[in-house]
Amino acid sequence: MILRAADFTPQLDRVAKGLQLVFVGSLLLTPLVGYAQIIVPLTFMIMACVVFMLVLGTASMISGSRPARFYLLAWGFFLAGSIVFLLKTFGTLPHTFFTHHGWQLGSLVEMVLLSMTLSSRMNELKHQSRTDSLTLLGNRRLFDDKLRNELAVAKHLRRPLSLLVLDIDHFKAYNDRHGHVQGDEAIKIVANSLRRHTRKPYTACRFGGEEFTVILPGVDEPEAARLAERLRASVQEALAGDLAITISVGYASLSQASFESAEKMFEAADFALYSAKQAGRNRVMGFRERRSEDAAVAGEDAARV
Ligand code: GH3
Ligand code: MG
Ligand code: MG
Repeated sequence: MILRAADFTPQLDRVAKGLQLVFVGSLLLTPLVGYAQIIVPLTFMIMACVVFMLVLGTASMISGSRPARFYLLAWGFFLAGSIVFLLKTFGTLPHTFFTHHGWQLGSLVEMVLLSMTLSSRMNELKHQSRTDSLTLLGNRRLFDDKLRNELAVAKHLRRPLSLLVLDIDHFKAYNDRHGHVQGDEAIKIVANSLRRHTRKPYTACRFGGEEFTVILPGVDEPEAARLAERLRASVQEALAGDLAITISVGYASLSQASFESAEKMFEAADFALYSAKQAGRNRVMGFRERRSEDAAVAGEDAARV
């Protein structure tokens, strides 16, 4: 489960499940057969299992599992410790503290590394739960957490912070004309433009559907407007002819208002996006520049933000 062997190497995963059954069966037999008879076959079976774990770990690692690196090292240490112990028992290695406790030492390191395998897998799962599967940008959950944190930090340190909200223009019609698959391609193209223009510490997310957000810590209002314009132009140039798409962008900066919450800041950038749409689309609009009639339509009240 930690390695996701069932996804990466389904045949080996089936063998692993078979081995598990044989192993549990042998352990249940132990009280009936007696220690002396079972210990030698059991030892060889443990060794065979460890070698199998190494094969499984290697196959999973080659197929792209990150936690498999720790897993391989863990079973490697266990195997090395066991071999040292056996060689001491058969008289090939001298009796020292390390050879005598080889098995225990190997197991100890193995346990530490297996817990690292588990934490690596948990990190992988956490990353997946915050990633949008189509574009590999951050998803809504990541955006919500990140904006809340960045707003608190920016206010505390009195640093600038800006937020862009982008939406593809006339996307329903685009889907109808070119089909959903081409629609998905267009979404990926916008995501790639965002990726190219937003290095750390900026965070680009797919907020949902064909709507994206970019959190810009340390970026003031004029710089946010420039970056938004660069993004708008790069999306417009990405596809030629009939397939071309455009985006509208709204932005809000902490210098424009002291937004009391992340939700209020998002609302402000979203109102600006709404204004950009009303003003004809394929353009950038700031929260401060939005048209007063749009603000009225959006039910916005400047005193609230
Ligand atoms: P506007 O210029 O006002 O934004 O017009 P619009 O047609 O883009 O309107 P809106 O933003 O409401 O359209 C959202 C459409 O985006 C609806 C849906 O068909 C499409 N859409 C949402 N998510 C996806 C997706 O994951 N893939 C594809 N292909 N289309 C999507
Ligand atoms: Mg749209
Ligand atoms: Mg939309």
